[in-house]
Amino acid sequence: MFRIKNFIDGEFQEVNSGDYIPNIDPSRGKPYGEIPDSNNVDIQNAVEAAKRAFPFWSGLKGHERFHYLLSLAEGIERRMDEFVNAESKDNGKPISLARAVDIPRAISNFQFYASAALQYSSESHHTEGLGINYTLRRPLGVVACISPWNLPLYLFSWKIAPALAAGNTVVAKPSEITPMTAYLLSEVAKEVDFPSGVLNIVHGTGSRTGDALVRNEGVKAISFTGGTQTGKRIIEVAGTQFKKLSLELGGKNPNIIFADCDFDKMLSTTLRSSFANQGQICLCGSRILIEDSLYDRFKDAFVEKVKLMTVSDPSKEETKMGAVVSEQHMEKILRYIDLAKREGGTIICGGSRVNLGGELENGFFIQPTVIEGLDQLCRTNQEEIFGPVVTIDRFANEAEAIEKANATPYGLASTVWTENLSRAHRVAESIEAGIVWVNCWLERDLRTPFGGVKSSGLGREGGFEAMQFFTEPKNVCIKY
Ligand code: NAD
Repeated sequence: MFRIKNFIDGEFQEVNSGDYIPNIDPSRGKPYGEIPDSNNVDIQNAVEAAKRAFPFWSGLKGHERFHYLLSLAEGIERRMDEFVNAESKDNGKPISLARAVDIPRAISNFQFYASAALQYSSESHHTEGLGINYTLRRPLGVVACISPWNLPLYLFSWKIAPALAAGNTVVAKPSEITPMTAYLLSEVAKEVDFPSGVLNIVHGTGSRTGDALVRNEGVKAISFTGGTQTGKRIIEVAGTQFKKLSLELGGKNPNIIFADCDFDKMLSTTLRSSFANQGQICLCGSRILIEDSLYDRFKDAFVEKVKLMTVSDPSKEETKMGAVVSEQHMEKILRYIDLAKREGGTIICGGSRVNLGGELENGFFIQPTVIEGLDQLCRTNQEEIFGPVVTIDRFANEAEAIEKANATPYGLASTVWTENLSRAHRVAESIEAGIVWVNCWLERDLRTPFGGVKSSGLGREGGFEAMQFFTEPKNVCIKY
């Protein structure tokens, strides 16, 4: 059993609490390692180390931070296969997905924000007849980065990289369900002689380690990605301490398909946007809305393709769908499928756990599932399931499509399929979401704002938005 350690002040440290929790391989349903369940002493040690490192790190020139961040990107790249295998094993995701998306995007995050350290600049405002105002942007100090299990290293690095680029020191907590690539990142930090205390990685459960980090008075800002309920808890604790908060939360994204779309392109992308990473991407389109005249053609073609999608061993190169992340999460998804039936839905394909036998007999596998016949206001269509489950529903016209798309408390992402340019712009403007993809899905340009509205979050990540979050502006007014 491999026991991972906290990385504090540039060293691998034993956990103060002495407590460990199992790290489970979801495709086998068995523990294969242990992770520390850190307590507030571990967190305090990490925050103190980060405080000590702050004057040095914040005093560096942009080009010096640029080199340090690039060294992390290069260190991951050198151990690419190890990172890819670890991500797939920890999360249950197909190894091909970890190789094509998760790890390369984590590397890009460090490269992108390395260059932001060079390019970030602040504003000045000339006030006629008076003088000049200029804005100083200073790093905040010690910041917390807390990330979820679905895209483990990708989302972890998406927070850490801008926080460091802007001159902050970091205490980061990955999800306790998928800690392995965060641990490998701490090994990389050690290998490349990343300055001690600048990046501290502390492992443990949300209710203990996460909560201690959020409450710690030395932490000036919290960048969090995870569920909406956890986000609310963090606001309750950290809001009263006036900590800066960036919250990327859950979603229930609509995928709106008009009859005039490019059918083949829409169909192949909709299969991905429904079931990539077993539907466990916050940007997956879980409510598919189809224009009346296309409904039957879409349903037949979609269901035919979904039935051909096989769930199998995530470590095999040819696998397209692997395991869901944990037993608890699998049970939650299966409960939602049951709920959908009770709410009057028809399961038109999938709907069950899959037993792959042999070594994978206890793995957490679920068939890709398509449900129809549900009202948009029922719980199945209102609550985040976050698994390989989509509902299909019809709409008569553009107005009804928009009404149904906006009929949930969430507003993270959305997808629109139409060849009508004017309609694409109109619908994009009317959808209550932070991200609209037209005739595509999951295309990312790291310069663009990323985040949600309504219960999907507060603030934006990406590009200079993240650099602004991780700095405090101060206006200096100089009279002629
Ligand atoms: P989660 O909220 O359970 O956990 C996320 C992180 O928060 C973990 O590291 C966890 O240990 C920690 N945590 C839990 N309770 C805490 C507390 N009280 N104080 C501090 N930290 C705490 O979410 P999850 O199950 O890991 O991830 C799935 C959720 O994340 C889904 O809702 C999904 O939509 C969302 N998500 C959102 C985005 C986005 O960009 N908006 C991206 C990915 C995932």
